[in-house]
Amino acid sequence: MSIKQTAVSFDDVLLTPQYSNIRSRSEISLDVVLKNVPSMRLPIFSSPMDTVTEADTALQVARSGGIGVVHRYNTPAEQAEIVAKVSDLFSETSTEGYRTVGAAVGVTGDFMDRAKKVFQAGARLICVDVAHGDHILAVTAVKSLRAHFGDRVHIMAGKVATVTGFDTLAQAGANSIRVGIGGGSICSTRIQTGHGMPTLQSIIECSSSEFAGEVALIADGGIKNSGDIVKALAAGADAVMLGSLLAGTDESPGEFIHRKGERYKSYRGMASVEAQIDWRGHAASEEGVSTTIPAKGSLKSVLMSLEKGIRSGLSYTGATNIAQFQTKAKFMKITSAGMSESKTHILDK
Ligand code: IMP
Repeated sequence: MSIKQTAVSFDDVLLTPQYSNIRSRSEISLDVVLKNVPSMRLPIFSSPMDTVTEADTALQVARSGGIGVVHRYNTPAEQAEIVAKVSDLFSETSTEGYRTVGAAVGVTGDFMDRAKKVFQAGARLICVDVAHGDHILAVTAVKSLRAHFGDRVHIMAGKVATVTGFDTLAQAGANSIRVGIGGGSICSTRIQTGHGMPTLQSIIECSSSEFAGEVALIADGGIKNSGDIVKALAAGADAVMLGSLLAGTDESPGEFIHRKGERYKSYRGMASVEAQIDWRGHAASEEGVSTTIPAKGSLKSVLMSLEKGIRSGLSYTGATNIAQFQTKAKFMKITSAGMSESKTHILDK
């Protein structure tokens, strides 16, 4: 048994403001180049969860410059239909030509059949979506998908918390890896299993991989605001994956729930009892919770507001693109008093 050093999470750090000669946020590029898939203009993926990404979310995320990853908690035919709808609508309404939609698959059972169906429907990013990606089944799934599709698809894998996990999936053939275990807003993995690592620490560790750069690092879980996105990028993430920040919008799946004059939507972990009962009739283990979150309005406005925050973030360091930002950014660790000062506090008095 060994005990590692203390791990830092998003709220433990701030970025030091630096001299900037950027006159307008429009001078900043948030482009991300990924293998086997068109580049992104906004470093944001939407999570493959049944309360986050179906056709409407994936379409708006693509229009805003990111990539939506359609969840796998349906039949392969249903998932392929969602993918086809997004691909068709996007090419009809966009001047950018073809843009990718992502689709999640598991690691056992019908995963290859599912992957073939979503590929045929237009998906060019396939996400091997499991909670513990540093695992023989995830490695085998990535290898078989790569053997079947070659470079015709971008393979995203995960999730991992450590650099050895990152390296394992990179060696198996993943083009991007979701980094973060136990940090999600609806996640109870750390409580149920005692395992995990603060997401920021995992990003810092995984970005030291010899494969970083060649294989994109996607920070996933526990991102609460655009400030956390900026910190994730500064620490070495190429892009982020968001669940709660994109749930509760007009486009997220599910009906509005009306309560005391307010509108809400359901948001739930895919390992919550509720989600498991809905998609497989029973709950095997419980590593997530189910909740409702207040309605947020249009996804477009939510993404615009996140984008403004990210652009401002790069400008505070004086960086015009993500690569430059990662070179220049300086973190400092703060105390809990520093953290309280960081939050708006006039309203507490
Ligand atoms: P959020 O952005 O903090 O809400 O976290 C979303 C992320 O939580 C997803 O992208 C998944 O990586 C992860 N996740 C989804 N469902 C579960 C679950 O039931 N338990 C643990 N993590 C989950």
